[in-house]
Amino acid sequence: MTERLDITNEPEYGPPRQDTEAERKPRPFLGVKFDCCSIYSRIYQNKDRTHYVGNCPKCAKQIRIRIGHGGSSNRFFTAY
Ligand SMILES: [Zn+2]
Repeated sequence: MTERLDITNEPEYGPPRQDTEAERKPRPFLGVKFDCCSIYSRIYQNKDRTHYVGNCPKCAKQIRIRIGHGGSSNRFFTAY
């Protein structure tokens, strides 16, 4: 069994000190299905926290999902 490394959960190995408080916090991510290749992957919030952005791991197509209403119970979205 292979354990998956998730560096966003390693606060002790954070980025250098010039980063601001906000940037040191683990960035929220979203699980999405890339419809182009039927693959699930994670995409992360952009700097301005207005969208989740990411690229399809297979074909590198870029997607973005607008962060709108705060109370959404939907944690998975389909990219289009
Ligand atoms: Zn794709």
